[in-house]
Amino acid sequence: MFTFYNTLDRRVEEFKSREDGKVSMYTCGPTVYHFAHIGNIRTYIMQDALIKSLEYAGYDVKRVMNITDVGHLSSDADTGEDKMVEGAKREHKTVMEIAKFYTDAFFKDFDAVGNKRPDVIEPATNCIPEFIHMVEVLLEKDYAYVAGGNVYFDTSKLKNYYVFSSVEQDDLEIGVRDDVEEDVNKKNKADFVLWFTKSKFEDQALKWDSPWGVGYPGWHIECSCISIKHLGEYMDIHCGGVDNIFPHHTNEIAQSESYLGHPWCKYWFHSNHLNDQSGKMSKSKGAILTVSLLQEKGYDPLAYRFFCLQSHYRKPLVFSWENLDNTVQAYNKLVKRVSELKEDGAVDETVKTEYEDKFREAVSNDLNTSMAITVLYDALKADTNDATKLALVKSFDKVLSLDLIGHAGALADAGSNVDTELEAYITDAIARRAEAKKAKDYATADAIRNELLAKGIVIKDTREGVVWELAK
Ligand code: AMP
Ligand code: ZN
Repeated sequence: MFTFYNTLDRRVEEFKSREDGKVSMYTCGPTVYHFAHIGNIRTYIMQDALIKSLEYAGYDVKRVMNITDVGHLSSDADTGEDKMVEGAKREHKTVMEIAKFYTDAFFKDFDAVGNKRPDVIEPATNCIPEFIHMVEVLLEKDYAYVAGGNVYFDTSKLKNYYVFSSVEQDDLEIGVRDDVEEDVNKKNKADFVLWFTKSKFEDQALKWDSPWGVGYPGWHIECSCISIKHLGEYMDIHCGGVDNIFPHHTNEIAQSESYLGHPWCKYWFHSNHLNDQSGKMSKSKGAILTVSLLQEKGYDPLAYRFFCLQSHYRKPLVFSWENLDNTVQAYNKLVKRVSELKEDGAVDETVKTEYEDKFREAVSNDLNTSMAITVLYDALKADTNDATKLALVKSFDKVLSLDLIGHAGALADAGSNVDTELEAYITDAIARRAEAKKAKDYATADAIRNELLAKGIVIKDTREGVVWELAK
């Protein structure tokens, strides 16, 4: 039994895929107007853990992700400037240059923390005809209206627009209050834009022809369209951060189900935010802490993954350098422990299965990744041989993706490099001493002997030549 918290039903429930053993999954991708901060990356790490846990439990997951390169305005409630235009202005570049640069930067960090790439990655700007088609159908079905040049979704046509019901009118009011000005074209406050033509911002860089005039799509339509395009009319799991619940996912459901005429996605998986000591991390909040920046400061991106996996996806996680440093220490210890394991014979299959079952149970129980890590520690302490422990580390890493075996190998290599360096130094010192003796410079010869002694190395002159050993 695989369970996780389904935001739609507001409880932890058993996951049942529509097709036996197969899972279709959609995840909202990044808005590529700026770097993805380590908070964004937390969301993608927890989604990766979900996918790999489902796979560990025997499912085959197909995952689709969009890249938001148009239509996401600075407020999620359809007001403000397009974030991409904002980014282009800030950096004196074109929107497409910005999109390319930040998409590449995103995937560099996405990969560095051990995430598996989605099966399909689709930039929104690839799918303009599909967006237009969906808007046309929504207009035909009378779920949408044209006002002031824009096309809006009419939320009053739905019996239950607030499907997640944890957010109600009050939250929407906050959304409106926060914004520059209210859109007078909307029939209802909750209505949202499907297609913009009369943007307040004349300098919108990307525009396409449409039946309603030259313009660009709203943000929410992207995800509805791209997911249906690649996964069909029904989907198993839709993922995002908790900030996506409203209005983004609420609007996606409104559009998709009105367009399709039937329920769309059964499970909604939301992971909580990474906060810093001053509150939620956000791209628009000054300096952006990225995985690449962590790397530049000498932190292993996989230690950051370890940091995320140690806490539950539904809890907010507070980032501090101290917390990260503690995790780095724990990660290094773990790597060292694994590096000490030797291939010492046959794997004990009974013990291996016993621990694999415990691990599967942990990740299948509302994605309890910290419990899964505890199972790993328990396995390393188990009364069994090293070969079995190594097999378990390899097996658990299919989900954890901490590259413990690779890092342990690198640590062993580094250790043997030190030995090689030491050997080279001793050989050189012995040669220098021989030269000094040949030149009858006994003072230098003795100084070299003492230099070696100070490093714990004893040399002896024998009939076969000079030999050395470590001081006892
Ligand atoms: P964006 O690029 O802003 O569209 O966000 C990409 C993903 O990161 C979305 O799924 C957001 O829900 C998620 N996200 C945004 N802020 C945070 C945060 N502070 N911590 C974790 N995830 C976040
Ligand atoms: Zn989305």
